[in-house]
Amino acid sequence: MSKNFTGTMESITRLLKTNDFFIKKKFGQNFITDQNVLKGIVDAADIEDCDVIEIGPGLGSLTVHILEKAHSLVSYEIDNDLIPILTDLFKDYDNFTLVNQDILSVNIDEEIKSHFDGKHKICLVANLPYYITTPIILKLLSETDKIRSYTMMMQEEVADRICSKPSVKDYNSLSVCIQYRAHASKVLRISRNIFIPRPNVDSAVIRLDLYDESPYKTKYEEYFFKLIRDAFCQRRKTLVNNLKQTGYDKERVLAFLHENNFNDAVRSEQLSVQDFVKLTEFLQEA
Ligand code: SAM
Repeated sequence: MSKNFTGTMESITRLLKTNDFFIKKKFGQNFITDQNVLKGIVDAADIEDCDVIEIGPGLGSLTVHILEKAHSLVSYEIDNDLIPILTDLFKDYDNFTLVNQDILSVNIDEEIKSHFDGKHKICLVANLPYYITTPIILKLLSETDKIRSYTMMMQEEVADRICSKPSVKDYNSLSVCIQYRAHASKVLRISRNIFIPRPNVDSAVIRLDLYDESPYKTKYEEYFFKLIRDAFCQRRKTLVNNLKQTGYDKERVLAFLHENNFNDAVRSEQLSVQDFVKLTEFLQEA
């Protein structure tokens, strides 16, 4: 197969048949078959001459497009049954490494050190398994700053949450945690009809670019991330009530709101990332 493999609907269907492969729902397996979408993802990732990490190569339809552009690619696949198929498909590519491991269990900085030479920008490109989208992103963002950009397909609802701005319906703790570290933008909307099997929801591709010079900085990061979780713990409650309930000093929170011209009944979704950084500093330096 090797370099003749293109990832089209026909080649994916042929692969499924010839390998007796059964699609596993438990691993979030929905394979993309549309060539324009695959090229669109790789174009959005802008990976010319980059070292790339892919999560979940599946049957290799995105992998083949990444390999054509990247300097090198390391793909992490949890499903043992896919390993012989992928190994055979990409045996002619000497810039490809396949790792049969759960991405959530790897030490990402160790992996980066062992696979890449440190001379190329490191990017992540993936059609993520939807059942663990958020844990994957939060793990990687909190454990390494070596991956400078992330281009990822996910359920559209999650993409909207990640990219949302304050006072918009989707804005929540995930938006704040991720935008603290990276600039987030939605780059493509993808119909559910281009997957085998067809999922119940539409998808979107987002891009995260780590800040070179972060506009947000606090030395109390652990406290900041806990504060975000607590501030958004009950959506219908005010910021003050959420924080009071989770053990913060109500009078100090009110003092911060007054000093920064917020109403006592302000909701967490009305505060920007910068406001949460300021609140962190205010409460920690009381
Ligand atoms: N990249 C392929 C595509 O676009 O057609 C497949 C994408 S499919 C949505 C998700 C892939 O992630 C599957 O191949 C699945 O087996 C793999 N996967 C699921 N959980 C994983 C994990 N924890 N670590 C690594 N790979 C995982």
